[in-house]
Amino acid sequence: MKKVIMELLGKYGKEDLAILYIAKQDDKIVEFVESLQPPIPREEKWVLVISTMYGCPVGCLMCDAGEYYHGKISTEGMLEEIDFMIKKRFPDGKIPIPKFKIQFARMGEPSLNKDVLEVLRLLPEKYEAPGLMPCLSTIAPNKGADFLDELIELKNHFYPNGNFQLQFSIHSTDQEEREKWMTTNIWNLGEIAKFGEKWYTKGDRKITLNFAVAEDSKINPEIVAHIFDPEKYWIKLTPINPTSKAMDNKLQSGITVENTEVFPLVKEFRKLGFSAAISIGEWEENDIGTNCGQFATQYTNGKVSIRESYTTTEYALSD
Ligand code: SF4
Repeated sequence: MKKVIMELLGKYGKEDLAILYIAKQDDKIVEFVESLQPPIPREEKWVLVISTMYGCPVGCLMCDAGEYYHGKISTEGMLEEIDFMIKKRFPDGKIPIPKFKIQFARMGEPSLNKDVLEVLRLLPEKYEAPGLMPCLSTIAPNKGADFLDELIELKNHFYPNGNFQLQFSIHSTDQEEREKWMTTNIWNLGEIAKFGEKWYTKGDRKITLNFAVAEDSKINPEIVAHIFDPEKYWIKLTPINPTSKAMDNKLQSGITVENTEVFPLVKEFRKLGFSAAISIGEWEENDIGTNCGQFATQYTNGKVSIRESYTTTEYALSD
């Protein structure tokens, strides 16, 4: 395997919440994150979130990762991201954490990078991690069809019995709105459901259908219920994070700190038999700028100042 020389440029965030790392791999900028879910301690749950691309070619309306695209990250490059975070805390590669998630959900659309499959094949042999659960989040681009088909075999072989989490980020039940937010080259909801039938095996985790909810989003639970089986899918509603792109595109979050408890869509989905929840992460992440793609984009645009040593967490966005 070709060795990637990764130079850590900085880290930003908080030990007890989320730390975002920014690094250079062959002169390209990559960002990755380790996070906790307070009050659950790291000994019980630890989440790594890695990038699969340098930027992203898709360019969704609410995501800063799509501000530029400098190519796919190789198998070695992705393993470097993971290994860096693991070796810092578990130098012997033994991770005795019952819930140890590696999310392929930072910069990049994973299904457009075949090397992600190789990383998924290698992880179980590389680390002693009985709690390992990969999570892959996709917008289901047309060109990702072969990848997703191959992923079925891989999941059944390496991560059976509910040890893999698949998420489709669908955002709207209106195809026109979906294509406006993401790209015209995506599966429609029917195509996603058809794939879900092939994917789902007894004992698997339910597939996540994620909606990032804007104030005026078109989300009709009846349409979802008509297409997707509540036995195989659950609904995750998330706020629109205040990224530069979201602000430029005037996307205001429909879910806010104030209305989280009473947000009506959750009830509507539950009435139709779905498990449904609002997943807000931590609002504090908005303040520290650790939403997807924000940091690398700001760095690439020369808007982030990083101090000399990465042993400090005191990195600051310049504005
Ligand atoms: S949301 Fe995903 S697919 Fe869309 S631009 Fe961001 S990284 Fe790319």
